[in-house]
Amino acid sequence: MRGTAFHQPASPVADEAPVPFARTEICPEARAAALQVMESGWVSAGPQTGLFEREFADRVGARHAVAVSSCTAAIELALRALRLPPGSVVMVPTLTFCGAAQAVVHAGLRPLLVDVEPATGMPSAATVGRAVHDCGRPRAMMVMHYGGAPAPLAELADAAGLPLTRVVEDAAHALGTYLGSRPVGALSMASCFSFYATKNLPIGEGGMVTTDDDDLAEWVRRARLHGMSADAWRRHLPGGSWQYTVDDAGLKANMTDLQATIGRAQLQHLSDWQRRREVLAARYTAGLRAVPGLLRPSAPAEGEGRHAWHLYAIRVLDGYGMHRDELVERLSQLGIGASVHFIPLHRLWYFRRTALRPPSGLPGADELFPQLLSLPLHPGLTEGQVDRVCDALAGLSRGAPAGAAAAPRTEADP
Ligand SMILES: *Cc1c(COP(=O)(O)O)cnc(C)c1O
Repeated sequence: MRGTAFHQPASPVADEAPVPFARTEICPEARAAALQVMESGWVSAGPQTGLFEREFADRVGARHAVAVSSCTAAIELALRALRLPPGSVVMVPTLTFCGAAQAVVHAGLRPLLVDVEPATGMPSAATVGRAVHDCGRPRAMMVMHYGGAPAPLAELADAAGLPLTRVVEDAAHALGTYLGSRPVGALSMASCFSFYATKNLPIGEGGMVTTDDDDLAEWVRRARLHGMSADAWRRHLPGGSWQYTVDDAGLKANMTDLQATIGRAQLQHLSDWQRRREVLAARYTAGLRAVPGLLRPSAPAEGEGRHAWHLYAIRVLDGYGMHRDELVERLSQLGIGASVHFIPLHRLWYFRRTALRPPSGLPGADELFPQLLSLPLHPGLTEGQVDRVCDALAGLSRGAPAGAAAAPRTEADP
C-alpha cells in the first residue's frame, strides 16, 4: 500500500522507481485502531488521548505528557506557561523551522536569533555567548536538536546565563535522541515533539509537551483547550459535571482520539524504526566516504548520547564541484528527492524585519546554509535506494574523475 510521498520528483528513468525524500508509514494496527475510534462514537480528545499521553511520557522518561495539535502549538503553550513579561526576549537558533519562531511570536515574546556552528548546525556555547554579549541576556531559550543530534543543553543554558527552568526544547527531531544515557523528554523545563507526517513518529499532525514540572503540565493541559478546567470527555464521565471554570486565555490546540489511537499503535514500532534509521544512516556514511567535497553528519561519540537520525543532512563543499542548488536539480532529474533544512530565519523577510540578531551577523549559518542538503531517510527506505543515492552523488561530483563508479562501501564502516 502506498502512502503520500513528499517532495517526490518525477522520475524520467523508466526502470528505476523514484526515491522519495520522505514517505509516511502508517502501520496496519493504526488503521484498524482508527476505524475502531470512528465507530466508538467519541473521536475528539478522550480516553485514547489519555492513554497515548501516559505511554509517551513513559517512553521519554517524563512525569507528564500533554498531547496537543502540533509541535508549533506545543512550543507556544510551553513558552506561555513560563509566564514571562510580554515582549520578553527568547533565544532561538537561526537555523530552525520557521514555525518554532512563529510560536515565540504568538506567545507574545520576541525571538533573538543565535548563530550556529557550521560543523553541527546548532548553536554552541561560543555563539550563544556572542549573542548575549551583543544583545543582552534573554529571558528564556529554545534549544533544538538539529536532525536528531543531541544538543548540549546544560552548556548552552549556562552560556546564556539561564537556569534549565527557562529552557524549552524544540524536540521535533529528537524523539529517539539521548543526551548521555537519558532520552530527550524531561531534561529541560519542557520538550516539544511533533507527529507531523515526515517526523520519526508520524500521525499526520499532532504534538506533545513533556515535562517533570506538575504546574507546567497542568497549565498546558488547560490552556490547550480554551483554558477550561475540565474537557468534554471528563465532563461526560459518570459523576462528571457540566460545570467548568476559565481562569486564563486558552488556545484550541488539543489532540483528538483519532490521532492518539494512531500514535499509540505507531509507538509500538518506534524502536524498530529507530534501529532502521541507524542502519540506513550508517550505510550513507560508509557509501559517501570517498566522495570528494561532501561532509557527512557524525554520530555522537561513545557516552555522548544517541542520534535520532530524523535527518541525514550533508554539506556540499566547493570541492564537490557543483553548487547545492544545482545538485538538488540534478538529483531530482534522477528521481531522487532531497531537501534543505532550513532556510535560516534571518533570511526570511518577516524575521529579518522583526527578530533581534547580533549586529555582527550570523556568519556560521550564512556559511552553512548554501551547503546543506538533506538526503532521503525514512524506515521504509531500502539499502538499494540508499546505494542509488550514494552512486548518484558520486557520479555527479565534478571533484571525482569522469565516470567514477560508486564509492567503495564496507558493511563494517560506521
Ligand atoms: C516540524 C518542525 C516543527 C513544527 O512541527 P509541527 O508539528 O508541524 O508544528 C518545529 N520545529 C522543527 C525543528 C521542526 O522540524
